[in-house]
Amino acid sequence: MGMKAKELVTRAGLDVNALISELNSAYCDEWLAYYQYWIGAKVAEGKMAHLVANELTEHAGEELEHAEKLAKRIIELGGTPAISPDLWLKESTCGFFAPKDPNALTLLKQNIQSERCAIEVYDKLLHMVQDKDPVTEHLVREILEDELEHEQDLEDLQCSCLGSDKKGCAK
Ligand code: FE
Ligand code: FE
Ligand code: MG
Repeated sequence: MGMKAKELVTRAGLDVNALISELNSAYCDEWLAYYQYWIGAKVAEGKMAHLVANELTEHAGEELEHAEKLAKRIIELGGTPAISPDLWLKESTCGFFAPKDPNALTLLKQNIQSERCAIEVYDKLLHMVQDKDPVTEHLVREILEDELEHEQDLEDLQCSCLGSDKKGCAK
């Protein structure tokens, strides 16, 4: 824990425990997203499965980086990142979609839904910390930017898989 980290956040009027709890929930989301994309990439089948798998593998790596950044900030603020996987589902906001149907298009659909949930999570966090905690704000902006890019990447892939123009398939 950084004594000053906690002090600055508290002085800015933030409830540090509430902030840690939101960061921890996002941390759990990231681990679930990591595994959802990682395993999705392994089992993907069907049209353009290879392209979808490559994108999902790349995204999985980025979700793990998000978890890394969140863990660092949680510890800095005096908290403990979820130390056991059984907490991931319990404390996550976005949950987990098991790729029971390995069809690449189904995976894309599920994962787009997860990205949209993540975007909402980080937008909420951003509103909580903006103009109060510049360090967390910076971190959340960085992650939000990635999640918006993820959503768009998957939407574009969905369009390619469907073989239609953008207008008709980005839903
Ligand atoms: Fe993420
Ligand atoms: Fe993402
Ligand atoms: Mg990408």
